[in-house]
Amino acid sequence: MGKYYIQHLKKYFVGSLKLTFEPYSLKLKHVFTLAGSSRSTTPVMLTKIEYQGVTGFGEASMPPYLGESHETAGKFLASLDLCQFSDPFRMEEILEYTDSVAPGNSAAKASVDIALHDLVGKIIGQPWYKIWGFSPENTPDTSFTIGIDQPEVIRKKTLEASPYNILKVKLGSENNMQIINTIRSVSAKPLCVDVNQGWSDRSKALEMIYWLKEKDVLFVEQPLPKEQVDDHAWLTERSPLPIIGDEAIQRLADVKSAVGVYSGINIKLMKCTGMREAHRMAELAHASNLLVMIGCMTETSCAISAAAQLSPRAKWADLDGNLLISNDPFEGIQITDGKIKLLDKPGIGVTEKA
Ligand code: MG
Repeated sequence: MGKYYIQHLKKYFVGSLKLTFEPYSLKLKHVFTLAGSSRSTTPVMLTKIEYQGVTGFGEASMPPYLGESHETAGKFLASLDLCQFSDPFRMEEILEYTDSVAPGNSAAKASVDIALHDLVGKIIGQPWYKIWGFSPENTPDTSFTIGIDQPEVIRKKTLEASPYNILKVKLGSENNMQIINTIRSVSAKPLCVDVNQGWSDRSKALEMIYWLKEKDVLFVEQPLPKEQVDDHAWLTERSPLPIIGDEAIQRLADVKSAVGVYSGINIKLMKCTGMREAHRMAELAHASNLLVMIGCMTETSCAISAAAQLSPRAKWADLDGNLLISNDPFEGIQITDGKIKLLDKPGIGVTEKA
């Protein structure tokens, strides 16, 4: 038997990483509207990495406007050969390989990263917030999102959000003041505002932000199109509220470009290829005096619980994606009195529902 053949056999007997994936469709409780689109389902890919009888869970959430789909993720994941790795602790090597196979595919890459983190955490027997050294009591409140809608729907959703201490309001249509006033007619809770690039004029944006400050808004996310870099810098310099970059900030390399343009960044696992890079982005943001927010797409408790591991390092969290769906196949982190409650469970702390 040749040496190569023996090594080849050995890796299967000693154990190699086995990646499997399955398309799934999230049902949204409410039709979700933001500047430019609305929808009632979100395609996700559920992944598993198995190693010596231990299984790590992962997920790719793929809202259509980001360009990934069941087809693209399936193709990307099928192209990966994780069997070549027989040591899951070589996370750098495994995830660098995953990232190098094809450009883009950030959600599909995140589904591998999350499953690998879950697996490694389970083998160690510790949750990732502990491995990273974070204190679980430092988790922020999570905001609950109110989409753009008719006043009676907004009032109803605001009242439904009573367990949460912060509401996230999607703006961008022409009825901005009406939406805020509608919420203020039934709730005095602090708000954060996400414009999703829906405004275009920086002076009007500044005027609106002054008005929003009077309405007890905490910060404004991505007010202008991401290409308007100079306008964002102008706005951030003058704004009475922090301006957070979301669409403009995808991966680690974008953090540097946020300095002087935004007050902070919104880190999402699906944009940045997962927990490994999200952690690095948070540390670089802290070192660069940028505020850190951690956000999500509509996701199951799997990806939400993964993101929550990093939340003690964030000033704000918008991790309500699992609360907006009606067919969550996982149980994971809890929200207690509006605050993220991390569990002392290994990995990302999720179990499959029976
Ligand atoms: Mg946003």
